[in-house]
Amino acid sequence: MEKKIGVYICSSCGIGESIDLDALSEVGAKYKVAVCRQDPFLCGHEGVSRIVADMDGEGVNAAVIAACSQRVMTDAFSFQPDKIIERVNLREQVAWSQPAGEEDTLMMAQDALRMGLVRARESEPPEPFIAEDLSKRILVVGGGLTGMTAAMEAARAGYEIVLVEKEEKLGGYLKNVHRLPPCEPPYESLQEFNLDDMTASLANQSGVTVYTGATVASVSGGPCMFDVEIQQNGTINPERAGSIILATGSVPYDASRLGHLSYGVSADVITAYDLEAMFKKSEVKRPSNGQPVGSAAFILCAGSRDADHLPYCSSACCVESLKQAKYFKEANPQMPVYIFYKDMRSTGSYELLYKQLQKDGVIFVRGTVTGIDEDDSGGFVITSDDILTRSPVVSESVDLVVLATGMVPTSALGEPFKAQTSQEEEEQSQAPADSILISNLLNLKYRQGPELPALEHGFPDSHFICFPYESRRTGIYPAGSVRAPMDYERAKHDAMGAALKAIQCVEMVSQGKAVHPRAGDQSYPEFFMQRCTQCKRCTEECPFGAINEDEKANPLPNPTRCRRCGVCMGACPERIISFRNYSVGMVGNMIKNINVPDEYDEKPRILVLACENDAYPALDMAGISRLSYNPWVRFIPVRCLGSMNLVWIADALSKGIDGIMLLGCRHGDDYQCHFIKGSELANIRMTKIQETLNRLVLESDRVRLEQISITDYSRIPEILDNFAEKLNSLGPNPYKGY
Ligand code: SF4
Ligand code: SF4
Repeated sequence: MEKKIGVYICSSCGIGESIDLDALSEVGAKYKVAVCRQDPFLCGHEGVSRIVADMDGEGVNAAVIAACSQRVMTDAFSFQPDKIIERVNLREQVAWSQPAGEEDTLMMAQDALRMGLVRARESEPPEPFIAEDLSKRILVVGGGLTGMTAAMEAARAGYEIVLVEKEEKLGGYLKNVHRLPPCEPPYESLQEFNLDDMTASLANQSGVTVYTGATVASVSGGPCMFDVEIQQNGTINPERAGSIILATGSVPYDASRLGHLSYGVSADVITAYDLEAMFKKSEVKRPSNGQPVGSAAFILCAGSRDADHLPYCSSACCVESLKQAKYFKEANPQMPVYIFYKDMRSTGSYELLYKQLQKDGVIFVRGTVTGIDEDDSGGFVITSDDILTRSPVVSESVDLVVLATGMVPTSALGEPFKAQTSQEEEEQSQAPADSILISNLLNLKYRQGPELPALEHGFPDSHFICFPYESRRTGIYPAGSVRAPMDYERAKHDAMGAALKAIQCVEMVSQGKAVHPRAGDQSYPEFFMQRCTQCKRCTEECPFGAINEDEKANPLPNPTRCRRCGVCMGACPERIISFRNYSVGMVGNMIKNINVPDEYDEKPRILVLACENDAYPALDMAGISRLSYNPWVRFIPVRCLGSMNLVWIADALSKGIDGIMLLGCRHGDDYQCHFIKGSELANIRMTKIQETLNRLVLESDRVRLEQISITDYSRIPEILDNFAEKLNSLGPNPYKGY
């Protein structure tokens, strides 16, 4: 599109006092823009009206707004979608972080404006991808408490639901449950529930189709166009869905591995799951002899928080044991009941149940169980160290020992997935391995594996800090205990959250918009296939499995699965992947338009490629807090550090820029990268750059990666100053002036 660019410079919020705006406006004149205006209050009604008037009267179709950060005033600076709007951050990242009136402050503003003009010149308005035959139906896999709640909530919101349950009857784990822990004041007595009522109301809810005794044979396509094959009684039923909620729950940890706690040694050592079934059937007896249970001991964290078994806390077993102790105390207040625990994790209002059981006379022992021994009476004596009294405690003889075992997500049951790649391809791949198991839950027809990638212990969560319910497969939302260990109430809340995410997904995607974290973005990667070498980098490195391959290894993008991170763009050695408003060439030209003075002594230059998710907001926060930092830095926001293409480093070094910093999110096991492995990939790529620089006898220290989260913003001045100091010790970039 032929561009008519308007530049609008705000003088409010201290910008006018800090920067010589007439000198800044000369940049606009040099770039031959159609209009270049200064405004005392650009985000106000008059300021915005003036931009609209230029669009209507002067034909301005690309507005460069040089004012506050792109993260604020988004509503005020929102115009017709066919207009290009570029924001230049003069406020937080110049006026509020640099001394007023200085020449360096002006030069920083000028470079920021030059780069904004390049962006405006080279951007095109995105054309949204609208799926054909799009569906807003929601597929729920799993018909337990979470699945039924999610289905009900989404159906009540007006969405069609297809629910698939592998058992013949709905209910899942609940079918085995006698009563629930308290979920309303005073949180001291147990809760009744009626599973038949729940299943009947779901069956009567309009728009809900239920398949029982069924499994998901395959899922292909993407959000709003998932083609699902449901296998039931030997037949395949095709369904189209817009988004998917995975609610297949968890299973109790395999107690046969708990021989050290006497499981399998005596029939009277049982699991909490077994005890619940006994209460459900009103058949609470000692398994060994069918006699009534006169006393009992619960061992909490049985195989949990234990490096040899489940290293994590299952969060609900403490309360489940309190509930079962209450069963015994309600039946016989005099019955001796022990609870041996490491820490009582009765969070929130469950604390009141814990207190009630103390009043009921349950004996609580805090420590580590060191022995479970049968005595002459056929009962058990339990020995534990007691960290409160600092002395060993030995119980009286008890009839029954109940092990509170933890939860293993159903997604963790399976064989590790091995992608079909040659050894050579594996060695060349830069992508960190995903942990994917073949657990037969979704059977995705995705190049990167049939199930959801999981975190360390098999839970298929994604960015657990910022985006709960997200998985690494767009449009598929795990909920309930398959996502994280949780109790019944939290599972219901989780189901509601996942239902909202599933609805949000179909609504966004049906308008051609991205979901989290670039919610609303209508751009998507376009491939110039004539130059593709079938190297498979993009398919392997896409964190969301958005790119399949044909039989000749040509990439097959699925735009509705795409999160618009640009990792594929950074990965492609041929540089043939670009977005209409974000491309390798565009960032390269922004770098080339930074003014690099020939004289290093006066004006060294540092390029900071700042991830928009955490690093850029951290820079803004530093400005808001009026933290002053190095004046030589020039910031370019990038969608993710994973979108960094190595050619940018070459562009910057050949331009004479003295150092390049990649500023992004944390990576590693507890990653915070909003695109999962973008900053990790950037780190791998950076190692390669450093090797190349060393080979060229250029100091590899000129390129540095720093990890930062928003809350770390106070470190910004120190991070930038330290790098500047290092560059000072290296001296000027030898390419400077060429
Ligand atoms: S932009 Fe990101 S999510 Fe989309 S195809 Fe590329 S790597 Fe995958
Ligand atoms: S990374 Fe680029 S060259 Fe390689 S397969 Fe993908 S599009 Fe083709």
